Amino acid sequence: MTYDISVVWFRRDLRCFDHAALHAALTQSRRVHCVFVFDREILDALASRRDRRVEFIWHSVRELQRELARRGGALSVLHGRAREEIPALAARLQAGAVFANHDYEPSAIARDQAVSAALAHGGIAFITGKDQVIFEQDEVLTQDGRPYSVFTAYKNAWLKRLDGFFMQAYPAEKYFSRLAPAPAPAPALPALADLGFETTNLLALGVVPGMAGAARLFANFKKRMSEYHERRDFPALRGPSYLSVHLRFGTISIRALARAAWQAANRGAAVWLSELIWRDFYFMILHHHPRVTTHAFHPEYDAVRFANDPQLFAAWCEARTGYPLVDAAMRQLNTSGYMHNRLRMVAASFLVKDLHVDWRRGAQYFAEHLIDFDLAANNGGWQWAASTGCDAQPYFRIFNPVTQSQKFDAGGKFIRKYVPELSGCDDKSIHAPWLMSATAQAKAGVVIGRDYPPPVVDHARARRVTLELYARARNP
Ligand code: FAD
Repeated sequence: MTYDISVVWFRRDLRCFDHAALHAALTQSRRVHCVFVFDREILDALASRRDRRVEFIWHSVRELQRELARRGGALSVLHGRAREEIPALAARLQAGAVFANHDYEPSAIARDQAVSAALAHGGIAFITGKDQVIFEQDEVLTQDGRPYSVFTAYKNAWLKRLDGFFMQAYPAEKYFSRLAPAPAPAPALPALADLGFETTNLLALGVVPGMAGAARLFANFKKRMSEYHERRDFPALRGPSYLSVHLRFGTISIRALARAAWQAANRGAAVWLSELIWRDFYFMILHHHPRVTTHAFHPEYDAVRFANDPQLFAAWCEARTGYPLVDAAMRQLNTSGYMHNRLRMVAASFLVKDLHVDWRRGAQYFAEHLIDFDLAANNGGWQWAASTGCDAQPYFRIFNPVTQSQKFDAGGKFIRKYVPELSGCDDKSIHAPWLMSATAQAKAGVVIGRDYPPPVVDHARARRVTLELYARARNP
């Protein structure tokens, strides 16, 4: 036993099972205190006081507090600057160490360095380790020891390295008797309003936060996993797992997910495992190339001169581009905080390559609205769609928003759900309603230009402009 007293600092890992830091603390200490900080540095910077993520975290923290209490422990919930709160708490408790899981975002790394320095000043250790990915940082490198930049090569090396060891759960529950009970008076959870936030439509959407919500979604997805590869591209179908928000806040363990996919060993599971590998890949890219948060992975594409027309950007944000699949996607995002992966690709490509708006503006909009916003994955996704990224689609591959719609929402079911003004259109015209005659519009009960906008740009023309913009950046 190394420490008499230690602290586990929960961050984006809101669960009490298969938790690397909790396990490490429990196996190395006599008494373990748990803490979560609603960090003012993060919360104060959020654009809106109605943020589904804050509410998701709040419910998940409440569940974690309850679950730790049921096992004889407690969770102190603080509201302040983590940089100050954590060293102060550790000093107050006379802890020998603070344990936490790695975070790969540049701002989190800076915060952790500050916390580590403050703790060291008081003679307290800061012990961090891998938890939220299967392989991190330098664990999967090329033969000559460099980070991969091509996904398929990374994935092959990742799979080669994988064995049961890396997917084993951390059995924290074996040591729960070492959890420190709640100090008197028992720590209260600040209300959402005390944190300065209002409730959103999160629960009305059917999102169940916390470990219970994650477990329920995963149980459901396991029954569908074998069909994932056939269904995942069609937004009107229940194809994907919808676990992204739980992975974002760690209410489920990545090891449990990878293990299930690995053991299932069928085509759907293999394709799903690939998506989990994309997640590791983008964390690894962010770790090695933190400049990607503001710059193109391939520097030549920082020279693309986007027009950045504010009216076109507003039309995209407000889902009135006149392209039904794009508008349906943006309404899904605006009303629920989620967007289907196929649609993220279509909407991102449309903003950059049809509207000629800088990918960073779109990434920022997603960052403000996605409930599963994750810097590494979001940046990777946007740079992929904008063709500026490490293993992006080539710049001359430009999604046609109408053919994407015909292919992935052939019957228009998804469009009808989010753009009900087009619900009277037949399955053919719903993808490009501006092509309907006046008579067909009257029959469908929609007048283009009155009830639904005409296209804000002509795709064929916009495509030509994009090719010129990118070609000019590559050959100045
Ligand atoms: P599933 O299909 O069930 O996949 C399982 C998990 O794998 C996901 O939950 C996610 O953690 C991971 N995953 C899947 N696809 C990717 C991917 N391409 N890159 C990295 N991880 C992946 N994902 C986020 O988690 N946060 C984001 O902020 C985010 N922004 C994106 C922006 C753009 C422009 C694009 C194209 C993709 C983005 N993605 C993001 C990736 C992907 O769209 C979502 O992870 C996925 O739609 C979440 O739904 P799901 O949980 O049902 O996914």
